Amino acid sequence: MNFLAAAGARRLCAVRAVLPCLWRGKYFSSGNEPAENNSVTPMLRHLIYKIKSTGPITVAEYMKEVLTNPAKGYYMKHDMLGEEGDFITSPEISQMFGELLGIWFISEWIAAGKNAAFQLVELGPGKGTLLEDILRVFSQLGSLLKNCDISLHLVEVSQKLSEIQALTLTEEKVPLERNAESPVYMKGVTKSGIPVSWYRDLQDVPKEYSFYLAHEFFDVLPVHKFQKTPHGWREVLVDIDPQVSDKLRFVLAPCATPAETFIQDDETRDHVEVCPEAGVVIQELSQRISLTGGAALIADYGHDGTKTDTFRGFRGHRLHDVLTAPGTADLTADVDFSYLRRMSQGKVASLGPIEQQTFLRNMGIDVRLKILLDKTDEPSLRQQLLQGYNMLMNPMKMGERFNFLALVPHQRLHGRNHQTNARQSKPSPSPVAGFGELAWK
Ligand code: SAH
Repeated sequence: MNFLAAAGARRLCAVRAVLPCLWRGKYFSSGNEPAENNSVTPMLRHLIYKIKSTGPITVAEYMKEVLTNPAKGYYMKHDMLGEEGDFITSPEISQMFGELLGIWFISEWIAAGKNAAFQLVELGPGKGTLLEDILRVFSQLGSLLKNCDISLHLVEVSQKLSEIQALTLTEEKVPLERNAESPVYMKGVTKSGIPVSWYRDLQDVPKEYSFYLAHEFFDVLPVHKFQKTPHGWREVLVDIDPQVSDKLRFVLAPCATPAETFIQDDETRDHVEVCPEAGVVIQELSQRISLTGGAALIADYGHDGTKTDTFRGFRGHRLHDVLTAPGTADLTADVDFSYLRRMSQGKVASLGPIEQQTFLRNMGIDVRLKILLDKTDEPSLRQQLLQGYNMLMNPMKMGERFNFLALVPHQRLHGRNHQTNARQSKPSPSPVAGFGELAWK
């Protein structure tokens, strides 16, 4: 079957690209951009109180408080995605992104033997746009999936965003669950009749056969930062500036801190960022996939253990000093894919990371673009499709900076040689779509 022609061929989405907006992977920062706003936010007051009582805090603690503190955290109350917000992500730019990911999950489900049921679990689903595009593909390929029992499981800490996700997916306001004992805090049914549940933590999602998706999720998890000094590694901490009241500054810990154990013995960089929470999530995903099957697809901007200082802030589509007006801007750091692979501890096979432009091309984005362009004469829609394609694929835009990593059970690759075929010098194609060219049947 030609998946790309069948997937949503009759449906062109309304204009959604809001160009030019800033995507978070764009810049590096030393955190020294000029302050845009010196206002004393409730979060700043909270942090100053905390530091005065217990001393300087790690960058990881700072990031966690600023982003996800239940009362004042940036993610808890904001809708930060899109033109009116602080940054834009691939699914908000073009419907093609989610459609191709939808095809990836179906392709994996078929390749792994068409299990009678699967859970689709998304970590940090934003506005729910990516899932909406994936579900449209599932509906269009309904004849394939008609005997499969699908459920959706959303891991989201933000009350505000979970409300938006519910509206996107179910077209209704979904009330909070009353049962305080249950880890499910919201429950609904999508437009196409698929049950959907919301959780605050991946640990709470039922350990069933699942496909996991994390797009621009790992980059918001808190990082520890370390600087190499003549006295060895020292952790970067956040302290109150003694010269200026109500202002924060970075300092180095006077001696070794417990988090230093995360640094590799053979580390050659002089500044590193480590994200232990990402390690915990990867271990949980790997454990689950090795026990129950399924797969995980992780997409984010990042590097393979080579970059140093990538911690930065975004507000209103501009870079924002990470220590200024905390709680009003997004904070992020590039994902270290080499660390994610290491944390899977051999429990699963990993594919990638490969660049977004390669993954999407392997998934057939060029064919998909052509099909969608052939469907419309509307100049604004055609322009949206072409601009969206350029944004996702152009190496100077998102094409190179964003990467895809997949985790699959070892059995999924069993019997195949992925390195090199003994009689050929060329690597044999990956059996996992996106990580090799899509086989057209
Ligand atoms: N995947 C979406 C949104 C990316 S923004 C997209 O690509 O458009 C990051 C998302 O992760 C938001 O939904 C945010 O609320 C959520 N998030 C941040 N920290 C989280 C945490 N610790 N646990 C679960 N979700 C989190």
